[in-house]
Amino acid sequence: MKNLDSLIRTYYDFPRKGIAFKDILGIIQDTEVFRELILKMSSNKIIKSSEAIISIEARGFIFGSAISLQASKPMIVARKPGKLPGELLEENYYLEYGKSSLSIQKESLMRFSSYAIVDDLLATGGTIDCVANLIRRGGKKVCGSVSVVELMELNGRSRLKFPVESMMQI
Ligand code: AMP
Repeated sequence: MKNLDSLIRTYYDFPRKGIAFKDILGIIQDTEVFRELILKMSSNKIIKSSEAIISIEARGFIFGSAISLQASKPMIVARKPGKLPGELLEENYYLEYGKSSLSIQKESLMRFSSYAIVDDLLATGGTIDCVANLIRRGGKKVCGSVSVVELMELNGRSRLKFPVESMMQI
């Protein structure tokens, strides 16, 4: 894809020593590249085969909502603690640089039967795996995950037991 790698900047030792943080926000400052990326993600077979999208706070929301509009798929969200009202399904997880938890509103999960998970970046796979567990706990189907970037050396996809796609591998 045109120019995608030149729009991703690496910050070393952020947010913790030893982490090479990939800042992908440059992508949304180039509307031509952003549009091309969203068109490509929206036509992905995992998105097409799902009834709805579930995007992950916070950078996942940027891509998830644009894909939702382009692909005409409704979107629900997985959010960090203390952000969602109502009855929730919640699960703890580890990501490349820490530990957290994610929640989904039970009521919104119940509306659709199958989900494509959308996030900005796949590292160890802990975040996407957490969302997949929440979907399954709600009795719904995981169609797969679609990320903008995949960090290959962490091999996150090996722990994910469903189709995994990324637009750029580094
Ligand atoms: P993981 O659960 O390890 O796959 O981590 C994926 C989540 O953490 C994504 O939501 C990313 O935004 C964030 N993340 C993890 N590692 C990095 C990294 N090296 N650079 C940028 N974001 C990262």
